[in-house]
Amino acid sequence: MTPDKRDATRPAKPRLDTPVMYLKGVGPVRAEALKRLGVATAGDLLYHIPHRYEDASTIAPISSLETGMQGTVIGTVVSKGVLPTRKGLRIFQAVLRDDTGMIEVSWPGQPYLDRTIAKDDVLLVSGAVRFFHGRQLQPREYVNLGKDDSGTAKGRVLSVYPATEGLSFKVIRGIIDAHLDELLPLVSEYLPRDVLRSAGVPTIGDAMRMVHRPTSLAEALEGRARLAFEELLFVQLLHLRAKALSRDVRRGIRFENKRALTTQLRAQLPFTLTGAQARVLREIFADMCSDRRMQRLLQGDVGSGKTVVAVFAMLLAMENGYQAALMAPTELLAEQHYGSIGRMLAPLGIEPILLTGSLKTKARREVASRLAEATPALVIGTHALVQQATEFSRLGLVVVDEQHRFGVEQRKALAAKGELPDVLLMTATPIPRSLALTLYGDLDLSVLDERPPGRQPITTALRPEAARSRVLEFVNQQLGLGRQAYVVYPVIDESEKTDLKAATTMFEILAADAFRSRRVALLHGRLPSDEKDAIMRRFRDGDIDVLVATTVIEVGIDVANASVMLIEHPERFGLSQLHQLRGRVGRGAEQSYCVLLGDVSPDSRLRLDIFVGSDDGFEIARADLQLRGMGDLFGERQSGVPTFRVADPLRDELLNEQARDAAQHLLAADPELDSPANAPLRAVMGERYARSLELFRVG
Ligand code: ADP
Ligand code: MG
Repeated sequence: MTPDKRDATRPAKPRLDTPVMYLKGVGPVRAEALKRLGVATAGDLLYHIPHRYEDASTIAPISSLETGMQGTVIGTVVSKGVLPTRKGLRIFQAVLRDDTGMIEVSWPGQPYLDRTIAKDDVLLVSGAVRFFHGRQLQPREYVNLGKDDSGTAKGRVLSVYPATEGLSFKVIRGIIDAHLDELLPLVSEYLPRDVLRSAGVPTIGDAMRMVHRPTSLAEALEGRARLAFEELLFVQLLHLRAKALSRDVRRGIRFENKRALTTQLRAQLPFTLTGAQARVLREIFADMCSDRRMQRLLQGDVGSGKTVVAVFAMLLAMENGYQAALMAPTELLAEQHYGSIGRMLAPLGIEPILLTGSLKTKARREVASRLAEATPALVIGTHALVQQATEFSRLGLVVVDEQHRFGVEQRKALAAKGELPDVLLMTATPIPRSLALTLYGDLDLSVLDERPPGRQPITTALRPEAARSRVLEFVNQQLGLGRQAYVVYPVIDESEKTDLKAATTMFEILAADAFRSRRVALLHGRLPSDEKDAIMRRFRDGDIDVLVATTVIEVGIDVANASVMLIEHPERFGLSQLHQLRGRVGRGAEQSYCVLLGDVSPDSRLRLDIFVGSDDGFEIARADLQLRGMGDLFGERQSGVPTFRVADPLRDELLNEQARDAAQHLLAADPELDSPANAPLRAVMGERYARSLELFRVG
């Protein structure tokens, strides 16, 4: 774009809908980075809220830090460098100084920080203090304030914004600060005054000023409460509306329980169903045999036996002359289901059909012609199932496995096939019932809260950095017995690149050293999906011994021979995520192990001990929610769930109750929210939640 053109399109004064690119100090490159943070317009910038604040009350003088303490300090980098260690790990170290003293800060395995942190930079670092040739701070988190920050320690409140690759928190803060004064007057209130009054929260303009430029932490929290309240209010309104709507439109197929195929399967199974499976099946059958359309979410911990439940439901559809489809998020999972369900149904003379993107044209045509026939069929596939070209003549039931891996559109597209099929969504993310209802609105909920008997518990342990070589030796012993292992590194959005580098670096180190006589492969989210599938296939087939990976392996893959899950930087994971990862082992007859490796702060230790001491996904999820909040539970891709950017329905319990009351009042007086008084509210909701609104109608 030429400078002239740019000037021509740049409005004299920004409006809320001005693209950020045209704001002073932004430009195309930063605009691209802001887009990754969900910021497209000047107005979005206002809603990019600090996720943390620091002020003098949270910052400790360096001299006051003592071993064993948690602390946050601000100091200037007086020296820095990368140290190699005997174990091959490279450590970035910096010495920080403030008015009271100096402390060494150490980042193991992150030598590349040497390029982003310069001498004389001012850093804010939080972490645990330990003793290692003197006091040393182990950063849990750090922010580079650049060269000129001195204000924070002198009583100002520092707003810390979510940042992204190529756009530091500091630049973001600068941009927001530069435009705040001209943007604030453009914001007008959209919540009714009495709603604000009864909730006791400030107006939107005041709240924006308070969260971005607070004069005290208390003020920042007050502003935050308003923004959290409005999110909770909107979501409550959406649910109540969705419920009202669904009461009218949910007519579906009425299946008849003929006890033909299902009875045969029950007789053929090598095990008896658990009490929970039997109960859940009754719930599902009741739905399917009523003329209401089923829209049910089945939650069950890893290994709780969801697949066989789905198979019973699919057989019920088939014995009524319908087709049933099971959609899985990856080709590998689809193939896995195709194999295991195929074996399960062989005695019944039923052969499933596999439909994935990599089918050859001829095979694909055969599948298409079988689906076009009006005969019962059981189809297993990936999102290829929902592509336009795939036509079902009599689709009666749709099952979506690992449903949180799919976008709303994909689930909807599948449910829209055929004649309003019943829908069963399955997930291993075990969240408390009340929260599930908040998140998933009018879906009915079934819970598998019992695991099949006879599972060997997975031995789980947390080991310090000092035990690294012993841990690696142990893994090697397991490999020597012919088993396979996963080694997992975290990926966090804020510093995704950094963590990927950690996985990549460690892959090289492990392949060259501890596992040099083994076949080692690297798997991460930036690989093209066919490459990922290819690597997973080789691991499944035993052609790879050690898989060094990021959390991409989380989803229900089943490699019975894998007996070790080694997780580094365990403090960076949500407990539920750790639990999902642990679920990747313990699938065969052999004793399996999950080892968390790293020196963690006492806080993290408390949290991780809950995980180490429990194998109950629900208990772990509940603890995780209480300790860390929602975002962490879902990781980065919980698509379709109306996301809370500010609110946390569990922690903000009181606000959530107030929001529910307010939503009920609003809808009681104005069920469609179409009175002129509610027009601004309706407009904002429409804009913000157009996609989420769709969620509540699965088909
Ligand atoms: P998930 O809920 O994680 O998808 P799966 O459906 O893959 O779990 O089941 C895990 C394993 O448990 C499978 O090997 C399955 O055959 C087995 N299984 C399921 N139900 C039972 C049961 N009632 N008794 C014994 N084993 C079972
Ligand atoms: Mg599964």
